[in-house]
This record gives sequence, C-alpha cells and structure tokens, in this order.
Amino acid sequence: MALMGQMMASPLLISSLIKHAARHSGETEIVSKRVEGDIHRYGWRDAELRARKLAQAFARLGCRPGDRIGTLAWNGYRHLEIYYGSSGSELVCHTINPRLFPEQIAWIGNDAQDSVLCFDLTFLPLVERLAPQLKSVRHFIAMTDRAHMPAESSIANLLCYEELVEAEDGNYAWPDFDENTASSICYTSGTTGNPKGAVYSHRSTLLHAFAAALPDAMDCSARDVVLPVVPMFHVNAWGIPYSGALVGCKLVMPGPYLDGKSLYELFETEKVSFSAGVPTVWLGLLNYVKANGLKFSTFKRTVIGGSACPPAMMKTLQEDYGVEVIHAWGMTEMSPLGTLAKLTSRQLELPAEQQQRALEKQGKVIYGVDMAVADDEGRELPWDGASSGNLLVRGHWVIARYFGHTDSPLVALDGRPGWFPTGDVATIDEYGFMQITDRSKDVIKSGGEWISSIDLENIAMAHPAVFEAAAIASPHPKWDERPLLVVVKKPDAELTREQMLAFFDGRIAKWQIPDDVVFVTEIPHTATGKIQKLRLREQFKSHRLPGT
Ligand code: ADP
Repeated sequence: MALMGQMMASPLLISSLIKHAARHSGETEIVSKRVEGDIHRYGWRDAELRARKLAQAFARLGCRPGDRIGTLAWNGYRHLEIYYGSSGSELVCHTINPRLFPEQIAWIGNDAQDSVLCFDLTFLPLVERLAPQLKSVRHFIAMTDRAHMPAESSIANLLCYEELVEAEDGNYAWPDFDENTASSICYTSGTTGNPKGAVYSHRSTLLHAFAAALPDAMDCSARDVVLPVVPMFHVNAWGIPYSGALVGCKLVMPGPYLDGKSLYELFETEKVSFSAGVPTVWLGLLNYVKANGLKFSTFKRTVIGGSACPPAMMKTLQEDYGVEVIHAWGMTEMSPLGTLAKLTSRQLELPAEQQQRALEKQGKVIYGVDMAVADDEGRELPWDGASSGNLLVRGHWVIARYFGHTDSPLVALDGRPGWFPTGDVATIDEYGFMQITDRSKDVIKSGGEWISSIDLENIAMAHPAVFEAAAIASPHPKWDERPLLVVVKKPDAELTREQMLAFFDGRIAKWQIPDDVVFVTEIPHTATGKIQKLRLREQFKSHRLPGT
C-alpha cells in the first residue's frame, strides 16, 4: 500500500499570496498613478487590509461565492484590491478590456453574467452607455472617492468605491475553499467570432505565479521594482500582480498614462528595474527616449511578448540602452505564459550570433506546461528548428474548455488526447527553443509554400526609416497569395517602395520578398495592441499587385 506524505496541506488560494506579502513585505510599496492625476502610494499591508474591507463590502452588497465582479480599469491599486478582494472571498474577478468595441464589452458582460461592475472614471461615459444592456449587473461601482464622484449620472444608485471600503472594519478572515474554484475570467479578444472566456482557478493562478517568477521566466525578486505596462485587463497583466505579491517586490502602476513621456518619468522617479509589455508600447517609449537623448538609470530587464518582438527593437533596447529583452510567448488560454527566451548553459557555448538568433525566438517552456509541433494529422514533428507545424500545449494553467462551451477544444497528439491547439504555427529546435512563424490564419500561402509574415515584418522593422510594418497576404491569380507589405514611415524619414524592397535582398529567399509595398500613416491595432491583420486584409483586398 502506498505511504501517504505527511506534510501540512492547505489549498493553493490567491488570498495566501496577499497574506504573505502583507506579513513579510508589508512596507514594500505599491505606487499608482491615479486616473485622478496624482500619485498614490502605500504598502502591501495596506493593500491587504483594504482588499479584506472590499471583500466585506462585496458581501454586504449581497455577492455570493461564484458571483462575477467585472472590472473596466487601468493598472492601479484599486484594481489590485479588486483582484484580491474578489478572488480571495470566493468571488470571480472578471477583467474586461475597455479597448474592445462597446458591443463586445456588453456581450462579454452578459456572457459572464457579471453581478457587479467596477470601473475607473475614464470609463464612465462608456458604462453609462452600456448600463441598460448589462442585464445581470446589480451594482455599478465608480473606482474613486466621494470628491471625484460625478455630480450626476444616468446610472441609478452609482456606488462610490472609497465609501464602500471605508464603511468596513476589515475584521474579516480570508475563507478556505477548494483550490480548483474559479478565481478569474479573461476573454480572448475575439478576432474571429465572439470572444471566449478562459476561467482560471486559484490553483492554476498560483502555480503560474510561482513559475512566472522563476529565473528562467521573469526572474522577479524582492529586490525588483516592477512596472507592468501590460494591462491588468488583459490576462491578469501576465500574472505580475500575483508574482509580485509572491516575491514581495515594489509595484509601480502607470494608470492610464501609457505615453512615452509619462512612462519614462515613472521609470526614473520610481527606479523601475523590470517591466513587461507588448512591442507597440516600447515603440512609443523608445521614440520618446531617443528623441530626447535620454537613458534609463535603473531599468535593466523587460519581457516583451503578445506579438513577435522585432529583432531591431531588441537590439536597440539591448545595445543602446542596456536593457535585457526577454522574448516571451503565451496566450489568454494559458494564463498567459508559455515560453521565454532565456539561454541555457549549452547555448552559452555557441557563437554570439547564434545566441542572438536564439534570443529572438519565443523560447523554452517553463515547468508546468509542455508543448509540441504537429502536422495536420496530429503527428509530432521533429525538434530540428526547421519543421514547422501546429503548436500544441498542455499543462497546469492551460484551459480545458471555454466558459459556457460544452465542446472540448482539445486535440490529440500521436493519438494521445489532451492538447490545446494554439492556432500558431511554429518550429522547435534541438535546444527546445520554439519559434512562432505565424498565426495559422496570417501565414501567406504562395504556390503551396508558406511565407512567414513575422519574418517579413522583422526585416522591414530593421530598416532605419520604418516605424512599423505589417505583412499580409494579397490574392494572386497564379500563386494564390503573395505578400504585401504595409509600412508606416518614421516621421520625416525618406523611403521609397523600391528602397524598401531592395532592403529584403540577401535577407530572405528571393521568392519570399513582398510583391509590393504600400505606405500608410497608421496601422490598425487590436484591443491588445496587436496588428489587426484581418482589418488590413479587408482594407487592401482590392489592391492590385504589380503584374496582375
Ligand atoms: P488575443 O489577441 O486573441 O486576445 P492573446 O492575447 O491570448 O490573444 O494572444 C495570443 C496569441 O498572440 C498567440 O497565440 C500568438 O499568436 C500571439 N503571440 C503572443 N506572443 C507572441 C510572440 N512573442 N511572438 C509571436 N506571437 C505571439
């Protein structure tokens, strides 16, 4: 008969993170730039007390275990309190992306059946407009104090966050319950069809928080000052609010102020050492820093992911500013971290150029998830860095199904079920480094061969006159599809179509070079900062490639 372990056992609950931070890093600061315009600072101990008061307030409003608490909010301390106050008291924190179309927001709120909606004042007009459609919402809470409450609002009984919190005494103990209970919901951005909800559990969130903090992942410690640029409304700011409590680091929350100047100032005044965000944010920050001849004095490392980080951006951050770039890949359906590009000791023996190429890939899985590339028949492909196929994942923080869907999205690998198809096309090399070549729907299919839109964009972005570039498939009578490059030039830069195309010579196989270049003033982005390929394809669907 098996001998059972004889260790203390307690459920892996999100409340344990903030309890730990309050007790062991109580004075460590959480600094927030408020929507109201000023800076707010307090410690993890204060955050935990206010999260407990908030849990009491939710109970007083009649919230019951499992009820969904919707948020439309920036990165800030009140949002952090809602994360812990809701999940910690067995409610479900449902962060909504305010950059989605209003109809999508209403659809998501109704799908999740939110009981309460907490929102930053920025979103008052949006919430007023949507309120009549949000049938399940019983309470609307403005995340501000009495002095900043709107004088009047079309929302009847609009509640004031600070009043709710201040009315409670904090005499509340975080409850114990099953670690598999839902802790939070985040919806995919629904680039195809309606958005779908990923329901995280306390257990999955805690395991992800541990893994995310590891040296080969974000490498977070109590010595760090962490500024998540990645929003708390998108996949829990990549888990930083949880890993931050786990390691007890200082957190700096930028609120709605995400332009280059505001971010730079906050990085400097708060001595930020580590940050994380999608490539588009760094475009803005780097532009500002460069234009003003500035340097970072404390900023040392950043995780960049959400879409492929152009090697040129990586190089600028590393060589001009001394900031280590950790390229990462993940998705809403996996909480989100899957892989990060941190070199192994074997790779450190390779020539510098090969090391650089490895760093540009999306990297190695962290313990807790596994991955494979498979052909269309579900057979695993070799890890040779060349065979590209459908990227499949599984693990402790990967969804088994979508919220409210009865059908399983999972597929089999070599006949063994239980893998989540990511919709990405990738290779894995002998070092276990994965490289995304494309999203399956964005790949350009030319005469039966695939051209990676990411490869083309990376080359274009390395041109000094290019601010941003997107490669899309354009219909072609002979080849089915051919690449069309859409380019935004840097302000005042000179660049012709011919110069852009010549830049590809010698950097990629000739047949992969785009057939045409169009210059635009702006490239559309999704609510999560990715290039909106679908819209671009729509916009250029009647574009005639030369010679067609
Ligand atoms: P959505 O944009 O649909 O909300 P997510 O934010 O969950 O989805 O994004 C997940 C997708 O983003 C991945 O499946 C992949 O296509 C893309 N992605 C994420 N990180 C990277 C990366 N480092 N390089 C390339 N693509 C990435």
